[in-house]
Amino acid sequence: MGTLWRKKKKGRTLPQWKIKRECLDLILECSKSNYPNEFGGLLRVDALSKNTIIEVVILPGTISGESHAIFKLHMLPIDFSMVGTVHSHPSPSARPSKADLGFFNKYGRIHIIVASPFNDTSWKAYDYSGEEIEIAIV
Ligand SMILES: [Zn+2]
Repeated sequence: MGTLWRKKKKGRTLPQWKIKRECLDLILECSKSNYPNEFGGLLRVDALSKNTIIEVVILPGTISGESHAIFKLHMLPIDFSMVGTVHSHPSPSARPSKADLGFFNKYGRIHIIVASPFNDTSWKAYDYSGEEIEIAIV
């Protein structure tokens, strides 16, 4: 009995994040086309496995190159298929800014930052605490 319970608990604490190739391509494309402005959106997972990012929902009016605080909390939907956010940096650094970290802590479980030149090797994913995490492309 005890073993069974432990197994179940362990599986729940290790989310294996995945992202669909076409979804990542769209993110890179949007980042490129909004440059030198920032692009921002929400990440939606599939209803079944809940760990595969299948869609990016682009938020209107989130782009503001100066302040960098591109997400307005009151605009974000309460929808549990939305697991986190994505935004682009016009610079070559995919490191979260102070404002990013404050935001990550408040909303969502996974956050992608795409840096210039917006290709497969210029993006990174973070958890709510700003710790870098791996996402498999599927
Ligand atoms: Zn940022």
